[in-house]
Amino acid sequence: MMVHAQNDFDRLQALWHDFRAYLEYEREEGRIRILVADKTRQRLQDWSASPQPRKPSRTPANPAPKISLPAMASSEKAEVVSVDQIARDIAGCIACDLARTRTRTVPGHGPQRPQLMFIGEAPGEEEDRQGLPFVGRSGALLTRMIQRLGLSREEVFIANILKCRPPGNRKPTSTEQQTCRPFLERQIATLSPAVLVTLGGTALQGLLQIETPISRARGVWHTYRGIPVMPTYHPSYLLRNLNARFDTWNDMLQVLDRIGRRPPPQNNPGTTS
Ligand code: SF4
Repeated sequence: MMVHAQNDFDRLQALWHDFRAYLEYEREEGRIRILVADKTRQRLQDWSASPQPRKPSRTPANPAPKISLPAMASSEKAEVVSVDQIARDIAGCIACDLARTRTRTVPGHGPQRPQLMFIGEAPGEEEDRQGLPFVGRSGALLTRMIQRLGLSREEVFIANILKCRPPGNRKPTSTEQQTCRPFLERQIATLSPAVLVTLGGTALQGLLQIETPISRARGVWHTYRGIPVMPTYHPSYLLRNLNARFDTWNDMLQVLDRIGRRPPPQNNPGTTS
């Protein structure tokens, strides 16, 4: 009896914990106002005063492509090398036509041993200019989402299915995706993340080679070569569809739980006074 009561209490506390984290996220996004008593307002001000995570450091600019790499066949076991070596290989790649229109290659950014790896679709205009993934408006939203989870961009790896920008930000063709895919396979094999998060339908379908629409696949665990994969919406979709942010937040809470972490202490009623 005591055990059941404790389990119910834990479940209730976890539910309240997640709901409170979600409310805080919505408040920071400016979509809701929370009217509170003076004592609680002080607590919220303390939250607001908590240190902001550092901005992501920039990787060196990719050198201009110098060599032509043949398209690599997708293999069962991708080669394990350093991510820097993969980035150098990407910088020299002219295996598809996007090499002629790109400004910089965008190999991805993050540590060598991340717990989480986010995979998007392809670089956009700003990413192409800077050589970094997710640095535009949707990147800012992804950064806020990562921070609300209690993580920083420095501790996750962020990459795309394609390493060069398709002109006009059009959707990558299947040929481009297949040609570029070995780079992503090598990155995943090298980084060996605990969890992969695909952002949007193209990333999901490109990684797992399935046709399931993102609206049905999101929130459900998939697997890529033994690594759990959580598909969720692309931040650019979330910029236009505010209601979908609730689903994404729930997806990300599942991811956080999978790596044994919880939203930050300031959102945890059990640790605030
Ligand atoms: S998109 Fe990929 S395959 Fe095409 S040139 Fe860039 S790195 Fe090479």
